[in-house]
Amino acid sequence: MDITTYDSGRRPVWCPGCGNYGILLALRKALAELKLAPEEVVIVTGIGCHGRISDYMKTNAFHTIHGRVLPLATGIKLANPKLTVIAHSGDGDAYAIGMGHLPHAARRNIDITLIVHNNMVFGLTTGQVTPTTPIGVKTKSTPFGNFEKPINPLLLALASGATFVARGFSAEIDHLKEIIKEGISHRGFAFIDVLQPCVTFFNTYTVLRERVYKLEESGHDPSNLEEAFRLAMQNDKRIPIGVFYKREEPTLEDTFKHAMNPPPAERLPVKVDLSKALTR
Ligand code: SF4
Repeated sequence: MDITTYDSGRRPVWCPGCGNYGILLALRKALAELKLAPEEVVIVTGIGCHGRISDYMKTNAFHTIHGRVLPLATGIKLANPKLTVIAHSGDGDAYAIGMGHLPHAARRNIDITLIVHNNMVFGLTTGQVTPTTPIGVKTKSTPFGNFEKPINPLLLALASGATFVARGFSAEIDHLKEIIKEGISHRGFAFIDVLQPCVTFFNTYTVLRERVYKLEESGHDPSNLEEAFRLAMQNDKRIPIGVFYKREEPTLEDTFKHAMNPPPAERLPVKVDLSKALTR
């Protein structure tokens, strides 16, 4: 298997230089190195420029409605736990209309991977503010500069109980490939926020290249939750990328299986007084 195994043959329509190309390549490389057969993989995408990625992958795919990537991915995984389910979302898709789903997927620890293409702008609709646009940035919907504080996706994932939390940069393709491989191999909900420049509406290549540094090179221990929180709050001129945090615990599929077929000792008789129940 190599990266061509997952190439649908469709030519991407993203703008030349868009960070989505880096994510697409990192994803194909990760699947090839994990030796996952295309029929074992499902890519679920939402609405936004990122959503095209399912067209370019020769795997199973589901391109769903705006903000509903996680419910779809959860249903697919519960219906067929043997599948490797990888959900892709944009910052508008995941952190605006779809925001309500992220904490719940994290606390349930469903065994899927969520890759958020975070370019800090609505690209498909030609450049409006999103929940991750930095303060002061002028977009079509904020002509005087954004005055709303951006959310911090990593803090949100950590606080919601995600068992794998990472950040990548689309221009660091091999580094991102390693994060994606680790996220897919992780048993449980793997959250990967990817800094992805939008060359047309918010070109962040220069500033991100100057500021990102790799956590592995700083000796970070990903089992340390407190340190992960501290790093996620890092708000100076340096931006850490890599795996912030991971731990093992039962997945939603494990607990679901147990609840559907509990051991005899846990099968408590349930007494219902039907006469009272029906007359209420
Ligand atoms: Fe990429 Fe931005 Fe073009 Fe969309 S608008 S394809 S995010 S560069």
